[in-house]
Amino acid sequence: MRLCRYDDDRLGVVRGKMVHDVTEAQTQIRAAAPYAMKGDAVIAALPAWRSRLEEMAAKAPGKPVSQVKLLSPVARPSKLVAAPTNYKAHIEEMAARAAAQNVKPSPAIGTAGLFLKANSSLVGPSEGVAIRFPERRNEHEVELAIIFGKQGSDIPREKALDYVIGYTIGLDMTARGPEDRSFRKSIDTYSVLGPWLVTADEIPDPDNVPLEISVNGEVKQNSNTNQLIYDCRKLIEWGSTFYTFYPGDVLYTGTPEGVSPVKPGDTMLARVDPIGEMTVSVRAHRASG
Ligand code: MN
Repeated sequence: MRLCRYDDDRLGVVRGKMVHDVTEAQTQIRAAAPYAMKGDAVIAALPAWRSRLEEMAAKAPGKPVSQVKLLSPVARPSKLVAAPTNYKAHIEEMAARAAAQNVKPSPAIGTAGLFLKANSSLVGPSEGVAIRFPERRNEHEVELAIIFGKQGSDIPREKALDYVIGYTIGLDMTARGPEDRSFRKSIDTYSVLGPWLVTADEIPDPDNVPLEISVNGEVKQNSNTNQLIYDCRKLIEWGSTFYTFYPGDVLYTGTPEGVSPVKPGDTMLARVDPIGEMTVSVRAHRASG
């Protein structure tokens, strides 16, 4: 099943090129959710609601996906966790840059650890990316994003995928610079998720998923999660020794080689075949001049 949030915070089931409105379910789920719960109530309720959502979608009139404003498929994750330096070829390209600038290269993930992106940086594809520091190098990082469906801590590798409700495409937008990753990668709009959540049953092996992004029609990154250093199960196992994951939490799995700068006016097209594709525009945060 493909689930999106769209327009003015509506919930939709995507079938083919159409979105079917199931917002009534979202309203009921949210109304019944305790305030003190951690995580996203709608994501937490998906297993129990799935067949009803399918029935509601079958009766709801469709609206073309191309005519809706796509928001992040998760409204309220308790956190966005991200893997740095998790593809060998990306580590090599960043090491070459570091050498040219005479600075220390970043170590691979086992030494670098994970990092957090602020929830307030999260947007959907139709909201676009607003560049705040045009004097810096602002780059796209296309990634497979894991969405957790239930609470888990110290999750063993062999059970890792039991905690995953689905996947979506993640853009870990980055302003390059000397500061901590969390500072530079948490700028408003610098965490994009979309175009929708694809439930885990449609992607039995997240460690063999092709991912691609082009900027203004030119392919920049084109790889596969089979190149991950820490694969999806390992990221979940390792991450959950530090953090309890809650329903709706997001794990950006890392970016392959080919990261490149974007500027206001650019259009990014990210594609992950088993999920779909999303167009994301880049604009300036402040009007120039
Ligand atoms: Mn990244």
